[in-house]
Order: sequence, then structure tokens, then C-alpha cells
Amino acid sequence: MEEEDNYVEYVPVTKRRAIEAQKMLHRKGKSSTLEDELETEKLAEAKPSLLVQATQLKRDQPEITHTEHLVQQEKEMIEHLSDRKTLMSVRELAKGITYSEALLTGWKPPLKIRRFPLKECESIRKQWHIIVHGDDIPPPIKNFKDMRLPEPVLAKLKEKGIVQPTPIQVQGLPVILSGRDMIGIAFTGSGKTLVFVLPLIMVALQEEMMMPILPGEGPFGLVICPSRELARQTYEVVEEFLIPMRECGYPELRPLLCIGGVDMKSQLDIVKKGVHIVVATPGRLKDLLAKKKMSLDNCRYLTLDEADRLVDLGFEDDIREVFDHFKAQRQTLLFSATMPTKIQNFARSALVKPVTVNVGRAGAANLDVIQEVEYVKQEAKIVYLLECLQKTPPPVLVFCENKADVDDIHEYLLLKGVEAVAIHGGKDQEEREYAIASFKSSKKDVLVATDVASKGLDFPDIQHVVNYDMPAEIENYVHRIGRTGRCGKTGIATTFINKNQSETTLLDLKHLLQEAKQRIPPVLAELNDPMEDAEAINSVTGVKGCAYCGGLGHRIKDCPKLEHQKSQAIAGSRRDYFGSGGYRGEI
Ligand code: ADP
Ligand code: MG
Repeated sequence: MEEEDNYVEYVPVTKRRAIEAQKMLHRKGKSSTLEDELETEKLAEAKPSLLVQATQLKRDQPEITHTEHLVQQEKEMIEHLSDRKTLMSVRELAKGITYSEALLTGWKPPLKIRRFPLKECESIRKQWHIIVHGDDIPPPIKNFKDMRLPEPVLAKLKEKGIVQPTPIQVQGLPVILSGRDMIGIAFTGSGKTLVFVLPLIMVALQEEMMMPILPGEGPFGLVICPSRELARQTYEVVEEFLIPMRECGYPELRPLLCIGGVDMKSQLDIVKKGVHIVVATPGRLKDLLAKKKMSLDNCRYLTLDEADRLVDLGFEDDIREVFDHFKAQRQTLLFSATMPTKIQNFARSALVKPVTVNVGRAGAANLDVIQEVEYVKQEAKIVYLLECLQKTPPPVLVFCENKADVDDIHEYLLLKGVEAVAIHGGKDQEEREYAIASFKSSKKDVLVATDVASKGLDFPDIQHVVNYDMPAEIENYVHRIGRTGRCGKTGIATTFINKNQSETTLLDLKHLLQEAKQRIPPVLAELNDPMEDAEAINSVTGVKGCAYCGGLGHRIKDCPKLEHQKSQAIAGSRRDYFGSGGYRGEI
């Protein structure tokens, strides 16, 4: 009964809502207090539509200049280029292993140099045009003797006519000998190889003396190169210094050349004996490591030569995989003549307290190369090439982008009686090696090649480099012409351009010629230059030219390489990027 007394009649939802609404109206109607007024005002304020808000925001915003707008746009682009992960071992990332201090070596500069005041170091760097970044940078050393290299190494340097270190050697050698991680950027042909080879030998020697290597063990040091030919060349430089050391009674250090395209068994035989130094291309190295034929348990020194090229050619994941095989901290070194800001930042993740040593702008052309650019119609090229070969005595290098063009030119030159050989990634290893060896030993006068031969190869005394076509990426151009004008000698580079080149590529070329104070041909001078804002943007962002490819003729938003890499992900490219017919695994 009681319950029934408390019974409240059921009111349907619609009715309840109507009552609520009425109550509200009622309240509003008599809202005369100040508080209520404020409240309604607030309500009204929150009301304006998004459109109104947007126009209001626009009106209130301070005017930004065109340059500021471009800078902002560029910053956002660089940040959003997140296609590159860090260059670190997955194992170390997963376990959260990071290193904060450089590895210790037993090497120290002589006392007199250690006592150099900071000012003196700075003035030497200034005098040699060396720019350094990093903490506690070891002092530059102006002669090989003070670098405390073993006697037979010094003798060998002298025998090779190497008496005075080049700027990258003056600063790079003390940095690496001290055990520091380093990014080394210097012109093509400026002697970068010795900067990592000499300390590599010292590390191997020191380790071997402390604890001799046993069969199946090793290596202590590793060099990774982007092409088989470059790996072989670097291996030969290493060997050249090891032989006199062995003869002088130092412990035997065994080097191994680990490249694809050659029989793996002979390589395994050397591994079985125990190796001290390995020079490798990524594919074969990855293979040996994955099959557990070799380990990096004792390896404490890693060099990536032409590091930006390795990343560009798509070896990034291979390198990360190689990183996974290291069991402890190692000294990591990166070298190249071209290293755009974006790659430098990305590569830094692999380094511990790194020192950057820069001689000249990254991506600048070697000033010892006279660069000539000529407008040649597509169909006239091959005939004009013959005429062009008369410019200088041999040896001459001819570069083009496609393998088919290499074959055509090779055939044409042979028909015309020119002693020519050719190399590209589609040829088998034997042919490749024959071409390089006969050209290096001056048995052949002309080498026709794709970009396989453009990186790092040191042919003696090339007189003339002909670019049968202008590479789409300016970095490739810098590496190609860098095959001549090496180590103080002068060389000529002739480049054929025509309507097939994109305007951006030609603008990059124009700016590069301007930077190197070369003659600008009328075709390039006439080009409409959209880079008036360049100086202003440079000064704000601190990035000269394109942050992605280093080209001076455009900013990152117009980068052809970025564009190309995006489209490459979708469709295969005809360009001979991989130096082995496009099959990366076997390079
Ligand atoms: P990079 O790697 O910078 O393009 P390399 O290391 O291949 O250049 O060296 C180019 C050439 O210069 C090699 O033939 C090398 O023997 C020679 N060279 C290296 N250092 C010196 C030096 N200090 N003085 C004279 N020649 C040198
Ligand atoms: Mg080199």
C-alpha cells in the first residue's frame, strides 16, 4: 500500500523533454542578473562557425613574407621525410643499447701537439680550409711522421710519392686514430681512402698483438663499399701496406676481399685461417654473415666508403642487418664527396659522439677539373663523341646512364678503331674485371661505363671525362667528373646536354659551374632562374641548396631525386643503379 502512495505517474520521454525546454525558456526570459548575461554572451562567443573563425584567424595573423613561407614549407618537408628509419642495429634498438663514449685506442698525438693551444689548432684548420664540428676534437697534424705510424707504412707512403698529407688527412687521421666516430667529407680524389685504411691497419695490428687471431675468427675491421670494383681497389690499397709490414717482421695481418660475382669457396678458405681486415660489398657480406661463415664478434672498426651512395643505392637495410651482427661497440666512419644534409642527419644515428670533418662544401665539384658543357643534339652525339675524344691524349672515360647506350658506344668506337673497353652491371664479373684491369694498366685508351664506375675508382691520370648524357642527379655528375683531376692534377670534363634534360637538372649544373667559377654556356645562362630567394633561405635554414640531394639549382620541394625515388618505388627503373643488373643481393 505504502508503495502505491509513493507512486509517481509515468511521464513519456517526449513529454519530459517538452517540460525541460519550457523550463529553460522560462529561465532565459527572466535572465536579468549580470551572471546570466555573461553566460549568454559566452554562449554566443563559442558559437561562430568554423568558417568565420578561419577568416578571423587569417585576419589576426601577422603578415609573413614569401621567404618565411618557403622556409616553413621546407622545414615541414624535411621533417616529414620519414621514409628513412634510423641507421641502427635492430638488436640494439630493441634492447635499448646506446653508447655514449668513444672507444679508447692506445694512440695519442705526440706531446708537443697535445700541448697545442686551441687557437693554434683553429689557425691550422683555417689555413687548410678544414671545417670541423663535434666535441673535444683531436688536433690536426701536418705530417705523417707525427701520426706515429709504423716505420714500414711511412716508407711505403714515401715510395708512393705521398709525402704531404692532404687536408682531409691532416684532420681525419688524428680523429680516427684517437678512436672517434667520424663523418669525412672532401672532394673526389683528395685521398680519403688512406684516412680510413691507415688507422684500420693500426687497429688490426694492435688487436693482433694483444690477442692473436685463431682460425675461423675475425675480422677486427670492416670496410663496406658500394661497388665490387671499388672494394677491390680499396683491398689492394690495404694489401699494399700490409706486405712491407710483414717483411719487416710485424705479425701477419690477413685481408679478405668479400664481393659477389666470384667464387665463394676461395673466400671461405681465407676466413677459415682467420682474417683481420675485410673489404666487402653489402650483398656478399650479408650472405656470409647470415650463413654464419663469418662473424663480427671481434669487429670494432667499421667504415662505409661512399656512404651516401650506399644509402642511395638501396643498401640501407643490408647495412642495418650487418649492424645486427656486431656484439659490442665499434668505431664507425662514413666517407664521401657528396653527403646532403638529410643523409648526414640520418647517418648520425649510427655514430657515437661523432666528429664531422669537412673540406669544401659537401657535393661541390673538385676545382682541379675544367668543366665544359656543350649543347649536342641527340642524333649528333655519337659522331661528336669521336671528335671530342681528340681533345686530349688517352686515357679517357665516357659515362652514360643506360647499359644499352654503353654497348652502342662501345661497338661504334671499336668499329672506328678506338681501343675501347666497356663496363656496366649487366656484364659478368670476368668482363667487368678485364675492362677495369686493362684500362687501369693503360692497355686500353677508352673506358665506356655506367655509374658503376663513377664512384670512388681511382684510375691513374685520366685526362678527360666525357658525360655522354647529363645524369639526372647532380651528385652523380660530381662523382663522374671526379674520376679526373685527382690529387692535385688537372683534368677536363665535357658534358653533352640537350632538350632531354630537365630544367632542374640543368639549373643544378649551372649553379655548380658558377660555384667552381667555370664558364657558363649560353644555353645555361639563358635559363630562367627561380632561385633568387636562395640566399635568404640559406641564411635561415643553414642548408645550402637542396637538403635531399645537395643540388644548388633547386630547393627540396622541387627535388628531382626525391621525385624519382618515389616513382621508383612504384615502377622499376632502366637506370643502371645497382651495378649488377639490378639484383642487389649479389653486388
Ligand atoms: P678519394 O677517395 O678522396 O676520391 P683516393 O683516396 O682514391 O681519393 O686518392 C686519390 C689518389 O691520391 C690515390 O691515387 C692516392 O694514392 C693519392 N694520394 C692520397 N693521398 C695523397 C697525398 N697525401 N699526396 C699525394 N697523393 C695522395
Ligand atoms: Mg674514395
